[in-house]
Amino acid sequence: MTEPRTPLADLTEQALAELYDRLDDAEDELAERRDAGNALYRSWNEQRTALTEGATLGARVHNTLLVLRARIATSPRDWAQSSDDAWMYAVLYGWDCEQQHEHTTDCRNQLVEVAAKHGWHAGRVERIRKHRAAFAQIGPNGETDARAARDAEEY
Ligand SMILES: [Zn+2]
Repeated sequence: MTEPRTPLADLTEQALAELYDRLDDAEDELAERRDAGNALYRSWNEQRTALTEGATLGARVHNTLLVLRARIATSPRDWAQSSDDAWMYAVLYGWDCEQQHEHTTDCRNQLVEVAAKHGWHAGRVERIRKHRAAFAQIGPNGETDARAARDAEEY
Protein backbone atom coordinates (compact mmCIF):
# COMPACT_ATOMS: atom_id res chain seq x y z
CA MET A 1 0.00 0.00 0.00
CA THR A 2 1.41 3.35 -1.03
CA GLU A 3 1.50 6.17 1.52
CA PRO A 4 0.06 9.52 0.42
CA ARG A 5 2.90 11.74 -0.79
CA THR A 6 3.64 14.99 0.97
CA PRO A 7 4.11 17.94 -1.40
CA LEU A 8 7.75 19.16 -1.42
CA ALA A 9 6.79 22.59 -0.07
CA ASP A 10 5.16 20.96 2.97
CA LEU A 11 8.20 18.85 3.98
CA THR A 12 9.78 19.90 7.25
CA GLU A 13 13.44 19.33 8.03
CA GLN A 14 12.43 16.52 10.42
CA ALA A 15 10.13 14.87 7.89
CA LEU A 16 12.95 14.96 5.33
CA ALA A 17 15.40 13.49 7.88
CA GLU A 18 12.92 10.66 8.60
CA LEU A 19 12.61 9.94 4.90
CA TYR A 20 16.41 9.79 4.54
CA ASP A 21 16.57 7.43 7.56
CA ARG A 22 13.97 5.18 5.94
CA LEU A 23 15.96 5.26 2.70
CA ASP A 24 19.14 4.25 4.59
CA ASP A 25 17.24 1.43 6.35
CA ALA A 26 15.84 0.23 3.02
CA GLU A 27 19.33 0.25 1.47
CA ASP A 28 20.73 -1.68 4.45
CA GLU A 29 17.89 -4.20 4.23
CA LEU A 30 18.47 -4.61 0.50
CA ALA A 31 22.19 -5.27 1.09
CA GLU A 32 21.37 -7.84 3.78
CA ARG A 33 18.90 -9.60 1.51
CA ARG A 34 21.42 -9.59 -1.34
CA ASP A 35 24.04 -11.14 1.02
CA ALA A 36 21.51 -13.73 2.17
CA GLY A 37 20.62 -14.50 -1.45
CA ASN A 38 24.28 -14.89 -2.35
CA ALA A 39 24.89 -17.15 0.66
CA LEU A 40 21.87 -19.24 -0.30
CA TYR A 41 23.14 -19.55 -3.87
CA ARG A 42 26.64 -20.57 -2.69
CA SER A 43 25.13 -23.20 -0.37
CA TRP A 44 22.88 -24.54 -3.15
CA ASN A 45 25.85 -24.65 -5.54
CA GLU A 46 27.96 -26.57 -2.99
CA GLN A 47 25.09 -29.04 -2.47
CA ARG A 48 24.65 -29.44 -6.23
CA THR A 49 28.37 -30.10 -6.66
CA ALA A 50 28.34 -32.66 -3.83
CA LEU A 51 25.28 -34.39 -5.32
CA THR A 52 26.90 -34.51 -8.75
CA GLU A 53 30.10 -35.97 -7.29
CA GLY A 54 28.07 -38.51 -5.31
CA ALA A 55 26.06 -39.49 -8.38
CA THR A 56 29.24 -39.87 -10.45
CA LEU A 57 30.83 -42.02 -7.76
CA GLY A 58 27.63 -44.07 -7.46
CA ALA A 59 27.56 -44.63 -11.23
CA ARG A 60 31.20 -45.78 -11.16
CA VAL A 61 30.52 -48.19 -8.30
CA HIS A 62 27.42 -49.48 -10.09
CA ASN A 63 29.39 -50.04 -13.31
CA THR A 64 32.12 -51.84 -11.40
CA LEU A 65 29.52 -54.08 -9.76
CA LEU A 66 27.95 -54.69 -13.16
CA VAL A 67 31.33 -55.88 -14.50
CA LEU A 68 31.85 -58.03 -11.40
CA ARG A 69 28.38 -59.57 -11.80
CA ALA A 70 28.95 -60.28 -15.50
CA ARG A 71 32.32 -61.86 -14.69
CA ILE A 72 30.80 -64.11 -12.05
CA ALA A 73 27.89 -65.02 -14.34
CA THR A 74 30.17 -66.07 -17.19
CA SER A 75 32.93 -67.67 -15.15
CA PRO A 76 33.32 -71.42 -15.62
CA ARG A 77 34.23 -71.71 -11.93
CA ASP A 78 32.05 -73.97 -9.77
CA TRP A 79 31.08 -71.41 -7.15
CA ALA A 80 29.32 -74.00 -5.01
CA GLN A 81 32.46 -76.10 -4.57
CA SER A 82 34.08 -74.34 -1.62
CA SER A 83 32.29 -72.62 1.24
CA ASP A 84 34.20 -69.34 0.71
CA ASP A 85 33.39 -69.23 -3.01
CA ALA A 86 29.76 -70.10 -2.32
CA TRP A 87 29.53 -67.32 0.26
CA MET A 88 31.04 -64.75 -2.14
CA TYR A 89 28.75 -65.90 -4.93
CA ALA A 90 25.78 -65.67 -2.59
CA VAL A 91 26.55 -62.06 -1.67
CA LEU A 92 27.90 -60.78 -4.99
CA TYR A 93 25.58 -62.61 -7.40
CA GLY A 94 22.96 -64.49 -5.44
CA TRP A 95 21.96 -68.15 -5.57
CA ASP A 96 18.28 -67.37 -5.93
CA CYS A 97 16.30 -65.77 -8.75
CA GLU A 98 16.02 -62.02 -8.21
CA GLN A 99 13.77 -61.15 -11.11
CA GLN A 100 10.55 -59.37 -10.29
CA HIS A 101 8.17 -61.94 -11.67
CA GLU A 102 6.16 -64.97 -10.69
CA HIS A 103 8.90 -67.49 -9.86
CA THR A 104 8.64 -70.88 -11.52
CA THR A 105 10.48 -74.17 -11.11
CA ASP A 106 12.89 -72.91 -13.80
CA CYS A 107 14.06 -70.08 -11.55
CA ARG A 108 17.34 -70.36 -9.69
CA ASN A 109 16.64 -71.30 -6.09
CA GLN A 110 19.86 -72.78 -4.73
CA LEU A 111 20.81 -70.89 -1.59
CA VAL A 112 19.15 -73.39 0.74
CA GLU A 113 20.82 -76.28 -1.09
CA VAL A 114 24.26 -74.63 -1.05
CA ALA A 115 23.83 -73.73 2.63
CA ALA A 116 23.02 -77.37 3.44
CA LYS A 117 26.04 -78.58 1.45
CA HIS A 118 28.40 -76.40 3.50
CA GLY A 119 26.57 -76.75 6.81
CA TRP A 120 25.67 -73.07 7.10
CA HIS A 121 23.28 -72.49 9.98
CA ALA A 122 20.05 -70.52 9.58
CA GLY A 123 21.51 -67.35 11.09
CA ARG A 124 24.33 -67.34 8.57
CA VAL A 125 21.90 -67.84 5.68
CA GLU A 126 19.77 -64.99 7.01
CA ARG A 127 22.82 -62.69 7.18
CA ILE A 128 23.78 -63.69 3.64
CA ARG A 129 20.27 -62.81 2.46
CA LYS A 130 20.53 -59.41 4.15
CA HIS A 131 23.96 -58.73 2.64
CA ARG A 132 22.73 -59.83 -0.78
CA ALA A 133 19.62 -57.65 -0.52
CA ALA A 134 21.70 -54.61 0.44
CA PHE A 135 24.20 -55.32 -2.32
CA ALA A 136 21.43 -55.81 -4.89
CA GLN A 137 20.08 -52.37 -3.99
CA ILE A 138 23.35 -50.57 -4.71
CA GLY A 139 24.41 -52.75 -7.60
CA PRO A 140 22.90 -54.76 -10.39
CA ASN A 141 20.74 -57.75 -9.54
CA GLY A 142 18.83 -60.39 -11.43
CA GLU A 143 16.18 -57.90 -12.42
CA THR A 144 18.92 -55.78 -14.02
CA ASP A 145 19.92 -58.80 -16.11
CA ALA A 146 16.30 -59.46 -17.03
CA ARG A 147 15.78 -55.82 -18.02
CA ALA A 148 18.96 -55.87 -20.13
CA ALA A 149 17.72 -59.04 -21.85
CA ARG A 150 14.30 -57.47 -22.46
CA ASP A 151 15.93 -54.29 -23.82
CA ALA A 152 18.12 -56.39 -26.13
CA GLU A 153 15.04 -58.22 -27.44
CA GLU A 154 13.38 -54.91 -28.30
CA TYR A 155 16.14 -54.04 -30.76
ZN1 LIG B 1 12.23 -66.14 -10.70
